[in-house]
Amino acid sequence: MASLGNPQKTIEIIKKHEFAFQKKFGQNFLIDTHVLDKIIASSGVTKDDCVLEIGPGIGTMTQYLAENAGHVVAVEIDSKLIPILKDTLGDYDNVTVIHGDILKTDVNQITEQYNGGRPIKVVANLPYYITTPIIMGLFEGKVPIDNITVMVQKEVADRMQVGPGSKDYGALSLAVQYYAQPYIVANVPPNCFMPRPNVGSAVIRLTRHKNPPVKAEDPDLMFRLIRASFNQRRKTLQNGLNNSPEISFTKEEIVQAIESLDLGASIRGEALNLEQFADLSNYFTNLRK
Ligand code: SAM
Repeated sequence: MASLGNPQKTIEIIKKHEFAFQKKFGQNFLIDTHVLDKIIASSGVTKDDCVLEIGPGIGTMTQYLAENAGHVVAVEIDSKLIPILKDTLGDYDNVTVIHGDILKTDVNQITEQYNGGRPIKVVANLPYYITTPIIMGLFEGKVPIDNITVMVQKEVADRMQVGPGSKDYGALSLAVQYYAQPYIVANVPPNCFMPRPNVGSAVIRLTRHKNPPVKAEDPDLMFRLIRASFNQRRKTLQNGLNNSPEISFTKEEIVQAIESLDLGASIRGEALNLEQFADLSNYFTNLRK
């Protein structure tokens, strides 16, 4: 039975190993069993699954995962936590702890080695300082994934699931929604962590699309257009694209592209949905054919 996940046990482990929390690693450990149960249930992890956990900390969620999954691979950056994980996970024979930085880890190789290249599930209470690079790295690195169930800053979870018209809408919303279907599972207050973070948190599940919801002939160009549009949020789409060093089309070509989509010359990039960004990028792709 998972023994961690409550304040007393967490304090006991920390004292026993004289562990000091490192702010720079975004260390806020979960101490609430209800939240842990909810994460596991919403991830849909079964004994058929290989799970990647990013940042196991002292192994609290890892224990829950080990009891529900076939195999768990946990990547932890802090060397001080490695002996603690040996202690707290010693009873499980289906857990592999890797000491390393997730941003420098070859996750495709992990899926090959531990799951024969089949899709894995990712479950984590993420270090908030690198939430976006971790998630984008998994999607853009073409890692075979079923779903990603993660604790993130509440504000970031909101950004991932909104559409045009919201102040939270941006490049992250579009990127996440191109690759996956987001669903906010629960909001989690600061008192569920030790130490308490300064922000509210949320658990979000990103279910990977089998096929992207829009057909962009050149997804890389579409994402350059998206970045250019949101880099200068207050500018019109036309000026945003024209001023971007990432976009090489002439002013005339940009004006024509926007006209061809019936968007109106003064439209801002933040008014476009994913389908319209795909249409815009397909217009430019065909221009150069
Ligand atoms: N999973 C634990 C829990 O829920 O109690 C700990 C979560 S804590 C929010 C984030 C964890 O990620 C910490 O253990 C931290 O050391 C680890 N971490 C931070 N940066 C990392 C990185 N680049 N690669 C791997 N782990 C990292």
